[in-house]
Amino acid sequence: MAAAGAFRDELIKTANAIASPGKGILAADESTGTIGKRFSSINVENTEENRIRYRKLLFTTPGMNQYISGVICYDETLRSKDKAGTPLIKYLQDAGIVVGIKVDKGLEVIPGTDGETSTQGLDGLAERCKEYYKMGARFAKWRAVYKISANEPSDVAIKENAWALARYGAICQSNGLVPIIEPEILMDGDHDIERTAQVTEKVQVEVYKAIRDQQLLLEGTLLKPNMVCPGSDSKARASSMDIAAYTIRTLQRCVPVAVPGIVFLSGGQSEEEATLNLNAMNVMPAKKPWALTFSYGRALQQSCLKAWKGEESNLEAAQNVFLDRCRANGEAQLGKYSGGSGDTSSLFQANYKY
Ligand code: 13P
Repeated sequence: MAAAGAFRDELIKTANAIASPGKGILAADESTGTIGKRFSSINVENTEENRIRYRKLLFTTPGMNQYISGVICYDETLRSKDKAGTPLIKYLQDAGIVVGIKVDKGLEVIPGTDGETSTQGLDGLAERCKEYYKMGARFAKWRAVYKISANEPSDVAIKENAWALARYGAICQSNGLVPIIEPEILMDGDHDIERTAQVTEKVQVEVYKAIRDQQLLLEGTLLKPNMVCPGSDSKARASSMDIAAYTIRTLQRCVPVAVPGIVFLSGGQSEEEATLNLNAMNVMPAKKPWALTFSYGRALQQSCLKAWKGEESNLEAAQNVFLDRCRANGEAQLGKYSGGSGDTSSLFQANYKY
């Protein structure tokens, strides 16, 4: 008995709709604390009203549905209404965009490790998934985090996180939500790209072993990995073509052909890097049986936030900037991004918490 049960056909349809050509995901699922940090960078107070104003700006951007197939929301956003009483997610649904929900409850340190973490939120998850499905969500996200050092990630962190990702995925599928499986290896460190490739391979192999053991329907899942980049403090630079080659090689070695799409996180890359690297992967001649696309948070929103600054009078300008990033990444999914339109400042933050 596979975890998908009665939802089999719907899950496959949802996963394929999200991974359709020229489209990707907007990750707008910042927790209240994280969006607060973003707002403080533009001097906007972190009130519910401002969170609604900002997310409405994103969700009502005209034309965004040409490039965005799904949006990941935070619990609050799924319940939010604007001043006119319209639920925010209705704007997405009316534009044919699939609504997603972050279902994990953050990170806890694994005892006996040097600050390595496991992701919380399995308790009561089935009930929450049922509620989210009723509210209109059709996919979910759960983020596991790994760090690289000489002896990390440890075997215990690799096993614990793989098992939890698969368990979360099985619970989602039993309740009609496509699970985005997100094993994020942080960029922090001075390691080279070869070491990131080694670790990413080890982590992904363990994740797919757990997914097999827990009988997920692979065709109704999406993978959200880090790209294989050098560590943030590494002296050695890597070109987009190097990053694309290492990332594709890793995926080829780990991800079954049955998975419809790989939706990368941006992970602290600048807007421009995240788009160029995705484009390089889609241009590169190689065996690529999955759609390779984006599920970016910071790399889709940074310039938009800066253009908005919380002012109603900047709304249209901010939406235009946001649409530019959506278009650029949609082009990168097709291998047609010519470069030069994105901000090049790094969005890296050490030990990033989402
Ligand atoms: P970034 O693209 O900002 O890394 O965020 C994507 C995300 O959803 C992280 O969980």
